Amino acid sequence: MKMLQRSWTPLMAAAFAVVTALAAQSARAEELAKDLFGAKKLPAVAAPQSFGFYSKGCFAGGVAIPMDGPHWEVMRPSRNRRWGHPVMIGLIEKLSRDAAADGWPGLLVGDISQPRGGPMLTGHASHQIGLDADIWLTPMPDNRLSTNQREKMSATLLVDEKTHLVKEALWKPQHALLLKRAASYPEVERILVNPGIKKKLCDTVKGDRAWLRKIRPFWGHDYHFHIRIGCQPGSPDCKRQEATVRGDGCDQSLAWWFTDEPWRPAKNPDKPKARELMTMASLPRECRAVLDAPAPSSAEAATYHGDGRSIAAAAAEPAVAAAPEPAITSGAGALPASASAFAATPEIGIPLPRPRPGN
Ligand SMILES: [Zn+2]
Repeated sequence: MKMLQRSWTPLMAAAFAVVTALAAQSARAEELAKDLFGAKKLPAVAAPQSFGFYSKGCFAGGVAIPMDGPHWEVMRPSRNRRWGHPVMIGLIEKLSRDAAADGWPGLLVGDISQPRGGPMLTGHASHQIGLDADIWLTPMPDNRLSTNQREKMSATLLVDEKTHLVKEALWKPQHALLLKRAASYPEVERILVNPGIKKKLCDTVKGDRAWLRKIRPFWGHDYHFHIRIGCQPGSPDCKRQEATVRGDGCDQSLAWWFTDEPWRPAKNPDKPKARELMTMASLPRECRAVLDAPAPSSAEAATYHGDGRSIAAAAAEPAVAAAPEPAITSGAGALPASASAFAATPEIGIPLPRPRPGN
């Protein structure tokens, strides 16, 4: 024992520490990314930056949309998915004002992202880099919803599950106006809606139809629509999605949705979902730093109030004295070339079961 103690040199101690750290790191690498990101209650304090792709990535510098605004209310607050890139949050607030001016009473805001993005424990495959947001197709009611109502209130399905056509009694011209307004912003690259909703727009929109190009048919999205904005400046490792094809999309690609093919049960229903397999090693390497970065002192400290201040500064303010510098580098030069080499996840692949409302 004495020998052992004497031979326990600082060098060996250092080597032991390195081995232990490496072992811990590889154990962590095996953990599912959804568990690690799903456990984060607060964002990573850093300049806003998205890493990776909409369905395989994470983001830093996230801000929360306030639970209530003049023209919006956040739904399902217990999920803590009201976080996004500041440009995304600012855009939702702008949409809420513009839509109110158009005659839509206000937005019911669904899921945006987890505080640091990443794969989710339940629900969406995308929404991982702070650039996706779901907005309900139900207008905000006159009375403020209680927390309980926001958790429990069920959404209205606008599409018949058998015919895949919109329910005529529920569809209003205001729905089209809201979607047109959302599509009008240059930051918005696509809006995902149920094929029945896309068809309704194709059949009824008169005059300017250029905006229909951004409206993309997809499974689900029958009680909410999904706004996706493009990669933002300051995010060199954000992987762009493919551009939408030319034209209004009211063609064969839409007709396909009204065949049996997209609605057949999956050939391999037991195939695990991507989030069941994604470890930290599946995500861009910067996501480790995002996970480890310091948090602000509270959610309120990182809540967007649209007052024109630098959001990164607002998010960092309360934590800056205590927290070390975030380990996230934002310059492209400091990052490995392979960081953005992840293959895009195709938007349309094997038909998935329709997500249940509330997911
Ligand atoms: Zn969505």
